[in-house]
Amino acid sequence: MNHPIATPAIPSLAIAGSSARFPVHRIYCVGRNYAEHAREMGAAVERGSPMFFMKPADAIVADEGAGVLVPYPSATQELHHEVEMIVALRSGGSSLSVEQALDCVFGYGVGLDLTRRDLQAAAKAKGHPWDAAKGFDHSAPVSALVPVERSGHPTAAQLTLDINGERRQQTDIADMIFAVGPIIAELSKLWALQAGDLIFTGTPAGVAALARGDRFRAELAGIATLNGTIT
Ligand code: MN
Repeated sequence: MNHPIATPAIPSLAIAGSSARFPVHRIYCVGRNYAEHAREMGAAVERGSPMFFMKPADAIVADEGAGVLVPYPSATQELHHEVEMIVALRSGGSSLSVEQALDCVFGYGVGLDLTRRDLQAAAKAKGHPWDAAKGFDHSAPVSALVPVERSGHPTAAQLTLDINGERRQQTDIADMIFAVGPIIAELSKLWALQAGDLIFTGTPAGVAALARGDRFRAELAGIATLNGTIT
């Protein structure tokens, strides 16, 4: 194909135990999927249907095995961490049933939904969209993905985040308001899901500020770990 500019690279993630890469198509994120986090944000705990937003695929910071370096973003004084379980899709579709949904999963990982909390608060106050608060460059550091053949479909596992060796966030993914199957089914009512899609499944309570030089360790126990530094 004849393009007048260089073809942009396709963002991709490492796959544990493989030299192959997982190409990232879209990044869907679930908001307020743990009751304690919804409360700490002053939001109602909604159990009817999940709230979604998106990040651009090239917001990914992929762990190549030695940890990630995440530049402190521009235009914020309040960069917050949100540790989340990541779901990667190997297939998709529209209007999927909960039963069909898990068959779409390629694997699982752990990542941070980095957030310009000051810009998010300003956007909420004005009823503006969240893109500048959530979808900025380098806002999605993600571990290597663990294929479902190795991980199974985890329904209970500790999800933790340590900053400079101190525990900041801790939950069990069993406490998610919407589990993985229902999340995929709900997303597929709104978008045609595709192989390569990633889902950030929401963060537990304990979100707080990061500073330059902070070292983080995110872990989905028994499955995936992500180490990194804010630079
Ligand atoms: Mn989040």
